[in-house]
Amino acid sequence: MIENTHAHFLGQTRSDEATHTTFIQAMLDPNAAYGGLYTFCDIKPLHDLTALYALSYNAMCQQIFTHLGIGLDSKLLESALASYATFRTDNIAPLIQIESQLYALELYHGPTYAFKDMALQPFSTLLSLIAKQNNKKYLILSATSGDTGPATLSGFANKQNIKAICIYPKGGTSEVQRLQMTTQTATNLKVYGINGDFDLAQSTLKALLKNENFRNLVTEKGYALSAANSVNIARIAFQIVYYFIIGKELAKQGINAFSVIVPSGNFGNALGAFFAKKMGLPITKICIASNPNDILTQFFTTGVYDIRNKALRLSYSPAMDILKSSNIERLLFAYFGAKKTKAYMESLDKTQYFSLTSDELKVLQTLFEAHSFSDEACLYGIQQAFAKGYVLDPHTSNAYLFAKHRKEQGYANDTQVIIATAHFAKFAKVVCKALCNIDSHTMAILNDKEALDKIFNLLHTHNIAQENLQIDSSILELFQKKEIHTQSYNASDLQESILAWL
Ligand SMILES: *Cc1c(COP(=O)(O)O)cnc(C)c1O
Repeated sequence: MIENTHAHFLGQTRSDEATHTTFIQAMLDPNAAYGGLYTFCDIKPLHDLTALYALSYNAMCQQIFTHLGIGLDSKLLESALASYATFRTDNIAPLIQIESQLYALELYHGPTYAFKDMALQPFSTLLSLIAKQNNKKYLILSATSGDTGPATLSGFANKQNIKAICIYPKGGTSEVQRLQMTTQTATNLKVYGINGDFDLAQSTLKALLKNENFRNLVTEKGYALSAANSVNIARIAFQIVYYFIIGKELAKQGINAFSVIVPSGNFGNALGAFFAKKMGLPITKICIASNPNDILTQFFTTGVYDIRNKALRLSYSPAMDILKSSNIERLLFAYFGAKKTKAYMESLDKTQYFSLTSDELKVLQTLFEAHSFSDEACLYGIQQAFAKGYVLDPHTSNAYLFAKHRKEQGYANDTQVIIATAHFAKFAKVVCKALCNIDSHTMAILNDKEALDKIFNLLHTHNIAQENLQIDSSILELFQKKEIHTQSYNASDLQESILAWL
């Protein structure tokens, strides 16, 4: 059995018509009618948070999924959640106090050291189990600028009934991110480093998914084509659960309200917080931290989403480098309904622009705040936190800066929780630049391994006992592994190569 009898149907963001689509169907085939996205609707508060807090992480997830009407067979979900056993901490997502009234929820203890593992580990296991039960085989495609690729490959490695492909821009990721992909030995995985940038990787993926001829040839080989893309509702569902860990841990200290600060790009992580709030988690504010790509900050502060004159800027926090933040569509639907959402999204597609009414903006701002930070500030944030004995990655640094800013401006007397989305070791060069006092010439020729060694030395001399430092140095093993997927490809050759590989 895959689905139990309590499965609700999902909503779709651009139509009020009933979908008759269940969570599992949407997970397998994520494209909703009318170009919209599947989403949860009518989320009701949970009756008894205290009872929820008494549960283990996985039991909490079961309860939350049941409440949302996801309707997965509990044995199946249990098997998917067993994938969290690969995490380097017992409690999956630890909440660490870093200063007075300031905490970090660490989401980076999974196999690829970034928060994408929180969803992609159970997601990939679940997909493989469903494929097996349905006696089907899937070819999963993904494109990545850095973190999604490693997490997807790690999730699907050696999974039955699945082959997974990741397309990435050669030279466009950090060294650690590249090694996490190119050293994968599982024979059901294929990594394509292409000559070009992330836009080309993404458009190649989209073209392949849309190409009927390609789809038919894949089907002839016995595979159904699917994508592990970031708007898959199943990924969002798993990203709700860890917010309740904050509630659970703070309740033990008698703290019953808090704000979360989320380093954001595609808005999937923050959307998890929003759904958790709808389920009754006492979140006061959801604060969106952006880097120099300030599209989300512009949206939440002015109500205008305008990418007409904006170009993507490469920053120190690459996983947040984005112009079109897909999950905003689900937020618009939750607040303003399908008709409005359809109009706004079509306007964005056609004219690269839409604008909320001032009343709509006011409603959003009762829950959301946003702020963007420069790369220079990002380095400063890493230095400030280090002075207090905590090491941040560049993404999380934006959230830390926002927490400080809110406190200084007097917006925040409340408890603040920054969402730590990556381990610092994954972005060693930026962290080294912030902390290690190295001249720019030396910095330019430093590789990731050397940068990491310098950071670890610094931490030892300062006696910084980031609890998991010892375990975390396991990231160094990556540099000893053999790179397997080393060939470069032209995007135009991918179709033929994939079919030959299948
Ligand atoms: C993906 C990612 C983000 C952005 O998360 P969204 O859900 O896309 O907003 C932030 N930080 C890191 C390290 C990431 O990998």
